[in-house]
Amino acid sequence: MKTFTQTTTIAPLARLKPDDVIKTCNYIEKGSCFALDGVRSCVMGTVNAPLLVSTEELNAGTVTYEMVVERRQALIAAINGLAEGDTGPCLTCANLVERPFKDVDLSCLGGEPLTAGMNIQYYTACNQRCIFCCFAQSGQLIKAQYDMLEFLELFRKAGKLRGNNWIDFSGGEPAMLKEFDKVLNYLLDHNLGTVVVYSNASLFSQTIHDALKNDRIILTTSLDTGLASTYAKIRRSDTFPKVIRNLIRYRNTGTQRLWLKYVICEENRTEDDLWSFVLTMLALRPNKVLICPDFPYGDREIPEATVTFAARLWHAIEQLVGLTPVDYTTDFGDPKWIKYHADLCAALGKVRKEKPFGKAGEVQRLDYPGVAHVVQQRIGRVRGALWQSSLRKRWIPEGSARRQRVINLYQRTLGRLLAE
Ligand code: SF4
Repeated sequence: MKTFTQTTTIAPLARLKPDDVIKTCNYIEKGSCFALDGVRSCVMGTVNAPLLVSTEELNAGTVTYEMVVERRQALIAAINGLAEGDTGPCLTCANLVERPFKDVDLSCLGGEPLTAGMNIQYYTACNQRCIFCCFAQSGQLIKAQYDMLEFLELFRKAGKLRGNNWIDFSGGEPAMLKEFDKVLNYLLDHNLGTVVVYSNASLFSQTIHDALKNDRIILTTSLDTGLASTYAKIRRSDTFPKVIRNLIRYRNTGTQRLWLKYVICEENRTEDDLWSFVLTMLALRPNKVLICPDFPYGDREIPEATVTFAARLWHAIEQLVGLTPVDYTTDFGDPKWIKYHADLCAALGKVRKEKPFGKAGEVQRLDYPGVAHVVQQRIGRVRGALWQSSLRKRWIPEGSARRQRVINLYQRTLGRLLAE
């Protein structure tokens, strides 16, 4: 992939008057996607904006703040036909807007919570081999390619690094990344915005656990089924029990930021997968459920069966779990995704009319255990541990009169309360 050269920069834009209306994009003005081959303005589902700086330039230490701004200018000039240059998918992207030139600011990094506006994907190394992952399928599971913090530092030192971003920390599997703690702490310490960590949760991370405990990050885990057999088929991994165990640990932090995802592909569009996922959601109680089709790379389209399944799953989560799912692809501007959004909307309308899970008044939702229930359970657990302890056995020996008196006292007091 080509990067822009500095010869195509400032001059074409300098000819514009402040009120001239030009095509621009918030991602070009503020975004940064840390990809394997360098930094781009965005990655939008199946399309990538042109490279601004390459991995080679980053590792050679030749990238400067001015260079990045000039390359953004070059991309805007090419999009507006003012200069030659690679425009990638930008010309047909729905995120392209028109604005007076005086309102176009290419000098900052961040400042607006754009979906995937800061996207961390400069490594793809992972411990799973998902069948819908283009990196796993093309054998491109690659270690970290450069130091992304050096790029952020260019903007910070220029006084142009802004917070209030939407940061997708994906990869690859972040929990495997050597510098995971360092990068995450940089993002949090500089208040750069909402950080969403995409982890498959097969490796327990104390850092993720602690950040969840304080609601400092969102954890998104793609579960895609509630069946161990489907999980193994899709992910080429037998880690389902570990994933569930770790998700329980993350759930027990009390976080409000646990999000679970369903990527729909040919292998998990069955009724069993749908119901097992619904039951898992009822047990794990995520704060959000995201639904997304397997990405249609190249000439592939999103199959009708996927759209139908997405609508049915959506309705099941809405009706039975009591959460309105989120369409993970909402902000993808490529025409394929725009068609999917319209198709999903139509399919959802149809399934809502059919009411497969019951008419209004028939649908039942599981009550979430209240605080009193949780406290009751904890007291019960402590009581059990105390009764089994050697100290109790020494002071209240088995078969003794004292033991019977204690049991009677317990049954008239705390035991009665716990039984209610
Ligand atoms: S692909 Fe779309 S969102 Fe990305 S930089 Fe181009 S116009 Fe903006």
